[in-house]
Amino acid sequence: MRKHLLQTGKDTPIERFYGVGAKRAEAFHKMGIETAEDAVYRFPRAYEPRGNVKTTAQAEDGEICSLLLTVAGEAKNAMIRKGMTLTKFSAFDNDGTCSLIFFNQPYIKDMARKGMTFRFFGKVKRERTGVSMTSPIMEAVGGAQPLRSLVPIYPLTAGITQKFMGSVMREALNAVQSETDGLEEFLPESLRNRLGLCGIKDALSLIHEPRVWEDTSVAIRRLAFDELYFFALSMLLYGKTEKFHVTNPYRNWDDTPFLSSLPYSLTGAQMRTVQAVASDMKSGNLMNRLIVGDVGSGKTVCAAYAVYLALINGKQAVMMAPTEILARQHYADLSGMFGKMGYRTGLLVGSMTASAKKKVIAALAEKEIDFVIGTHALIEDTVVFADLGLAVIDEQHRFGAGQRSNLAKKGSETHILTMSATPIPRTLAMVLYCDTDVSVIDEMPPGRQKVDTFLVNESYRTRLYAFIRKNIEAGGQVYIVCPAVEEEEKFVCENGETMTESEAIPIGGREEEKPRLKAAVDFAKHLSEEVFPEYSCAFVHGKLNGKEKDRIMNEFASGNISILVSTTVIEVGVNVPRATLMIVENAETFGLSALHQLRGRVGRGTRKSYCILVSDSKTQKARERMKILCESNDGFSIAQKDLEMRGPGDFLEQIGGKTRQSGEFDLGIASLEKDVKLLYTAFDEAKRTVAEDPALSLEENQILAKTLKSRLYKRGNALA
Ligand code: ADP
Ligand code: MG
Repeated sequence: MRKHLLQTGKDTPIERFYGVGAKRAEAFHKMGIETAEDAVYRFPRAYEPRGNVKTTAQAEDGEICSLLLTVAGEAKNAMIRKGMTLTKFSAFDNDGTCSLIFFNQPYIKDMARKGMTFRFFGKVKRERTGVSMTSPIMEAVGGAQPLRSLVPIYPLTAGITQKFMGSVMREALNAVQSETDGLEEFLPESLRNRLGLCGIKDALSLIHEPRVWEDTSVAIRRLAFDELYFFALSMLLYGKTEKFHVTNPYRNWDDTPFLSSLPYSLTGAQMRTVQAVASDMKSGNLMNRLIVGDVGSGKTVCAAYAVYLALINGKQAVMMAPTEILARQHYADLSGMFGKMGYRTGLLVGSMTASAKKKVIAALAEKEIDFVIGTHALIEDTVVFADLGLAVIDEQHRFGAGQRSNLAKKGSETHILTMSATPIPRTLAMVLYCDTDVSVIDEMPPGRQKVDTFLVNESYRTRLYAFIRKNIEAGGQVYIVCPAVEEEEKFVCENGETMTESEAIPIGGREEEKPRLKAAVDFAKHLSEEVFPEYSCAFVHGKLNGKEKDRIMNEFASGNISILVSTTVIEVGVNVPRATLMIVENAETFGLSALHQLRGRVGRGTRKSYCILVSDSKTQKARERMKILCESNDGFSIAQKDLEMRGPGDFLEQIGGKTRQSGEFDLGIASLEKDVKLLYTAFDEAKRTVAEDPALSLEENQILAKTLKSRLYKRGNALA
């Protein structure tokens, strides 16, 4: 018996739908569908254009379309193999005839009565012998239900067929349309009118049962807006970090000694950034600022400015970098500068001896060190500060959110300043960092050269080596980067798992092609012994200890080494003005932003510099991606293109590191790259909503508040 319900509504459990027994219920639960409402929020992934009707004369070979055909004669079943039946009949329209063939559907014989007309949807085959269709979808014309021209195709799971999903969906749609227990409109009418959005019930009907393509656009606009608007609202309402009041506001603000100690004057963008930093630190609230700027734009000095403000107010400061090389370079650059002003600077990195570390740790607790620079070693529990006022995190996307906040928690009132060289398109910055203030350094220090970039394949190898020689003979130095996963440094992330650098910044995106990785060690040996025996070559990789890396980097920086072969460990930091040539092997394995950062290692002096991407990748997408680099030197536009090509998922991972789980961005129907305008609109509307009704307590926002809560709860959203 049909277990039809007297009353159904949005909360009707899926088990109570027609045909859903224990097994199918389990399959639905697996898809996250528990109720009618869940079901209708399972959107089609595509539509079959069954309304695309052709005649037997029009349909081309291989075309997927519908034919309206009348059965010409009785269908015949034949047993073609054990357990395999074939049903065959012919049918006609005004233009000609078509043979129809079905396998293992013997019941078709009884359906296909002579003289009856059906709509057959499928792939048309046109041969010399005639037109045919194999196993098309067959629907009787003139039945009780009018034939639909667009039929949704759902993402499924084992145990549920399209047809069954379709019938459940029809019931679920009915249920949620119920006057009494159905879905309630949660967007205030004023908002809907302002944006011209259709009602929620209409949107759901249109997405599941569109009559024409335009219906789907109307539906998608409303449903995508909902997702983005809820996302924006949850960020605004729950995503904000509390602005804590600093009980002892800083009193000293004289930055002249710092600024006049610099060998150069700040660029306009740097000036704006340090002014923002100063006003944050003066505000009486804790700073939470991100500095975004292209490689070499001069972020470090802005961070040093913040350190200076903390120090002159009697606080300690800490600066954490993702690699030892970078930490050591910051230490080399900054310890002298602060030393001259009478402040004690320390270094804390993993490769130091236990006793050296102990000494630094003790000095921090006793406030014998004012400013410490280091790596992840700084987060260890043993590291305690006497009075930490500022935490600076360089290359912030290399760290997990937990790591960042653990560092900041080492003080009771800690200003936080993070830096990122991955330029973030504005739209994403808005989404990712809506609880953070962002300063953008969009201006390079004077005298920087444009780095000419070329993409070559293996056939250029000889010419490439000649080009290297030419550069060295002209007084330049060369980086050769080759990806080598097994060489990578591992570090521990917040959940205790170890992760390699390339996992922290996924390289390569979703390329199908498996890269042919060069064994970096062999390659380095080959270069130094066979190709360039006349030059001094060195090899740095993640497994070298800090001292050794340091030694090699110093040798390179002082010009004693001409060719530095490395894995990606030089990606960050290091500043060598005489380096004029960057060669990246297997370039297709790197993300665009990573390549752009690598390129930023050269072109730091006055000489003309080049970046050569070597890749044998044949995939169109990989080549297109690398072409972008050849055409642009602007990190922001590269990031925007990267975003467009790779989609937000990959991109967010790359720039957000482990900050926010990608699930939080699991936008079903909205897609950030396509709906940028809608995203802005959603944020504007959310801001307006929150400004007018911060607690969502107004009468007109009641259903909205309820729906927002239930969605956050359902998705197990960390923001809730
Ligand atoms: P990034 O933003 O990549 O961290 P850095 O802070 O390492 O860049 O700066 C790159 C180089 O530019 C450093 O050698 C630094 O001394 C130099 N620099 C920074 N600001 C200026 C400036 N305003 N004028 C000239 N050189 C600058
Ligand atoms: Mg830097």
